[in-house]
Amino acid sequence: MISLIFKTITGRHYRKFIKQCRPKVAKINEIEAGYQSLDDGALKAKTEEFRKRFAEGETVDDLLPEAFAAVKNAARRLMGRKISVCGQELLWEMVHYDVQLIGGMALHQRRIAEMATGEGKTLVATLPLYLNSLSRRNCQLVTVNDYLARRDSEWMGNLYSFLGISCGCIQSGMPPDQRREMYGKDITYGTASEFGFDYLRDNGMATRKEDQVQRDHYFCIVDEADSILIDEARTPLIISGPAQDDRPMPFDAVKGGVQRLVRQQVQLCNRLANEAKECVSKDPPDYDTAVPNLYLVKNGMPKNKIMLRLMENPEIRKMVDKYELEMNSDLNKARRFKLKERLYYLIDERQQQADLTEQGRVLLRPDDPDAFVMPDLPIKYMEIEQRKDLDQAAKEKEKAKAQEAFSKVSEEIHCISQLVRAYSLYEKDDEYVVQNGRVVIVDKNTGRPMPGRRWGDGLHQAVEAKEGVKIEKESKTYATITIQNYFRMYERLSGMTGTAETEASEFNDIYRCNVTVIPTHRPCVRIDHNDVVYKSRRAKYNAAMKDIEEANKKGQPVLVGTTSVESSEVLSRMLKRSSITHNVLNAKFHQQEAEIVARAGQRKAVTIATNMAGRGTDIKLGEGVADLGGLLVIGTERHESRRIDRQLRGRCARQGDPGTSKFFVSLEDDLMRLFANAGPMSRILEGSMDDEAPLDHKILNWSIENAQKKVEQQNYSIRKRLLQYDDVLNKQREIIYEMRNEAIHSENPEELLFELIGEEITERVETTIAESQGEKEEDGIRWGPMIRWVNTHFPIGLKAEELSEDGSKSTELILKKIREAYENRREAEDEGALRGLARYVTIRSIDRLWQDHLTEMEELRRGVSLRGYGQRDPLNEYKSEAFKYFEELLDDLRNEVCTALFRSATNLSAFQNMLARLSAGARQQGPDQNQSLVASAAGKGSAPEGAAKPLPKVTVKRELPKIGRNELV
Ligand code: ADP
Ligand code: MG
Repeated sequence: MISLIFKTITGRHYRKFIKQCRPKVAKINEIEAGYQSLDDGALKAKTEEFRKRFAEGETVDDLLPEAFAAVKNAARRLMGRKISVCGQELLWEMVHYDVQLIGGMALHQRRIAEMATGEGKTLVATLPLYLNSLSRRNCQLVTVNDYLARRDSEWMGNLYSFLGISCGCIQSGMPPDQRREMYGKDITYGTASEFGFDYLRDNGMATRKEDQVQRDHYFCIVDEADSILIDEARTPLIISGPAQDDRPMPFDAVKGGVQRLVRQQVQLCNRLANEAKECVSKDPPDYDTAVPNLYLVKNGMPKNKIMLRLMENPEIRKMVDKYELEMNSDLNKARRFKLKERLYYLIDERQQQADLTEQGRVLLRPDDPDAFVMPDLPIKYMEIEQRKDLDQAAKEKEKAKAQEAFSKVSEEIHCISQLVRAYSLYEKDDEYVVQNGRVVIVDKNTGRPMPGRRWGDGLHQAVEAKEGVKIEKESKTYATITIQNYFRMYERLSGMTGTAETEASEFNDIYRCNVTVIPTHRPCVRIDHNDVVYKSRRAKYNAAMKDIEEANKKGQPVLVGTTSVESSEVLSRMLKRSSITHNVLNAKFHQQEAEIVARAGQRKAVTIATNMAGRGTDIKLGEGVADLGGLLVIGTERHESRRIDRQLRGRCARQGDPGTSKFFVSLEDDLMRLFANAGPMSRILEGSMDDEAPLDHKILNWSIENAQKKVEQQNYSIRKRLLQYDDVLNKQREIIYEMRNEAIHSENPEELLFELIGEEITERVETTIAESQGEKEEDGIRWGPMIRWVNTHFPIGLKAEELSEDGSKSTELILKKIREAYENRREAEDEGALRGLARYVTIRSIDRLWQDHLTEMEELRRGVSLRGYGQRDPLNEYKSEAFKYFEELLDDLRNEVCTALFRSATNLSAFQNMLARLSAGARQQGPDQNQSLVASAAGKGSAPEGAAKPLPKVTVKRELPKIGRNELV
């Protein structure tokens, strides 16, 4: 009763919509009647005419009646034609019914059209797809599997090609070229995951325009919309794989040396600290010795207990701080360098970095003083190039060797520096714990271990090497998106399915699509029996078997629906025992299963199918079957969701056919176990209920449906919650992908780079000025650290005299110099290659950081759900943390771009181009061996014509620790 009232109320807006459609239907039919007198060519010419009118400003809505009429008329012209679909001959026998025109209008209006099975949704979709493709944008139709995508595109392709519209489909395993071709068609059929993964590959992985395959996210119809937009939407699409730098690192080879190194340093720092302690307790205290000692310990072992204890004394702390400040000034460079050389490595706690000193290098490789000198690749190449004794092939070989040696050294340096960090900055049971042979990071905020999360850039592996556990390969999420957020990208999204009504609010909340129930072409005469309930599962199956046998004896076909592969198998065994021929479908082999399901309406057919098996295939009744009562559908369990049950019922009684449905339920079923004890059901079930006697009562159906509703709501709120979390990431993804696409598509990728560099420099200049404000007047602004940073990243030889207190002027000057340096590079190198480099640098930086970010966000999400926040909403915590992470990501991105721009060579030929210029300059000036290449570029402005051009330092895969032997630290 209540549901009846509810139905009439909610049904009202459907009726309104349908009423509005009626006059349009009449108009379409009128136009179509007019088209009947045209010849085929004239009908086809309509497409061009519509397109022209669209280009001239008519909207698709304006064109709807004529376009729909054209499609319908084309269908009429195809009547009786033999067509081939997926290798089978078929007769075209359909012209759009009026309700199908209404369905087409609903789809065009971005609705979810509920149309029962067998109503011909495949044909309905052709109307709005044709109409929207008049815009020349890519229109898409999503189906549940590859087979249906191919079947429907081939089937309906006949209609489209008749009208001069191209149509294709995406299949899994298709190579990119073919995909691009398919997306290039007017209309493209495919599955949700193929479309989604193509999007992720295009935006998260492709590095060139030519590698991107999709062209649009404009108009999309999702067939079986409930299954795709709701059921499948529970699992996000994820592309993951090994981390980019995947070569095994020589951790074990260098570990012994690093252990020795760390031991020495610890001993040294303890000695220094103890000495400082003694000096301080003397009367009078000897601060002249103590303070430099403490300064050293601070730089060599920031967590040294004795030092930390002494520093608790404010007076001592002040003295050490002052000393440190003095030491950092440029005037004391030499002193600082000498003092620090007493240590084996230097630790920057804030940056969590560790750098070897000369002493440390000697300790690690006493017999090979050059072990840590990066081979000077440009010079090496030049030397090889000039050798007369080698032919070109031998030269290439030599260069490859040099490159290999270079990689080896840089890998070793990387390993050592990560190991030093692992030993000196990361403490067991503090930063991490070792559990089951794994290094597990400990969350700083909660103290909880976070299994699965890993530090990046080889650090985690270094800690694994340190702990002597198995060094694991790095794996990473490259890209991910939820189904919901993928489909929300479409400008116009719509869907169709036999069962949407129960999920109307979800379609509305998440996809902004109204569900509209379209009337059937012929009234439905299906008989739905009440559920019959048994105590045990065994009794239930026995009873179902009895019905199946009975029908089978008569010759009536039966479709048995199950909720799992296991129960399909149970039933199959029982049928075998009764010698009943049958088919079992598990939604694995789509095409074969479709063919079997298509025959499920024949006399004596018995078909067992899980709920997705054979979806999308119509069951037509065989000869004389209608007189036997049509297809009998038997459900062997109620599904969690009413919708799936409705799907199953809807398999019979299509297009006015007769048909019957009946569900068998047992108290041992999951759904019943969870809900049978509550409410009216328990009262009915009380009383004595013997094993074999069934219970069949209207109120039971009602209670079961209520139980289902509860589960549905629960599941919906879980999905909604997940989506709320993904929405945060989604906004970030949009920003990152936009940036990435700009780098791919822009004619001047350098502009994006300079924008990022500009932001970075502006910030650094402003920070420097702001920090100097507290200082004494005569000191002016302490440009030192910033200038050092600039000069190590850009070959512009910046000097303090050039800068002024005017922040924006200083920024401008620096940027101008960087641009000039870049222009110089442009002259030295192939311009196209350099542009490619700029693209590459940006894309690579974005990818690396974004992928790390994805990992962090996953962790964060896991983290917030574990953390107790008292009254606070974890989602809000997640949002604000995520915002911080993202800001950090953008910071890192700017920084990385700055680092990379001048440090990578474009390619071998660009490299050689550059070498040619270098050798020209070399004759005049000769590269200064004692200066880093960056420094040699510094004097550029005053150098004679033709002097050495600034040379980019060649960097391998990652940023390297500073290693110039004579470089002052
Ligand atoms: P749905 O996807 O709605 O379950 P299908 O698109 O698979 O239905 O179509 C079911 C069957 O109905 C197909 O065999 C098709 O040929 C037939 N059909 C669809 N529309 C018409 C029509 N207008 N006239 C005659 N037959 C039709
Ligand atoms: Mg279908």
